Amino acid sequence: MKKATTKTSSPLRIYCDIFGHKYEMTKKVTSHVKEYTCKCCKRQLTTNGNGKLTELTPKYQEINAILEDIYTRRMMRLKSKTLSSSIY
Ligand SMILES: [Zn+2]
Repeated sequence: MKKATTKTSSPLRIYCDIFGHKYEMTKKVTSHVKEYTCKCCKRQLTTNGNGKLTELTPKYQEINAILEDIYTRRMMRLKSKTLSSSIY
């Protein structure tokens, strides 16, 4: 694995500016919120509250972490509910 050097003036960045970013889904936070990373320049995007794509800032990373936590908890609760209802 090569270490990615982060330079603002990298040729990949210029490529992206001309041809557009090649976003790939890297993380599913909830069923509506996802995180994307550009395969070329590693720029990260996320879905915001309006369902639009926005730059993944540390603030959004924080929000997504909370959202993910709530989402997984809810999913787990739903699962345990179905389990307990089958017991009783
Ligand atoms: Zn890019």
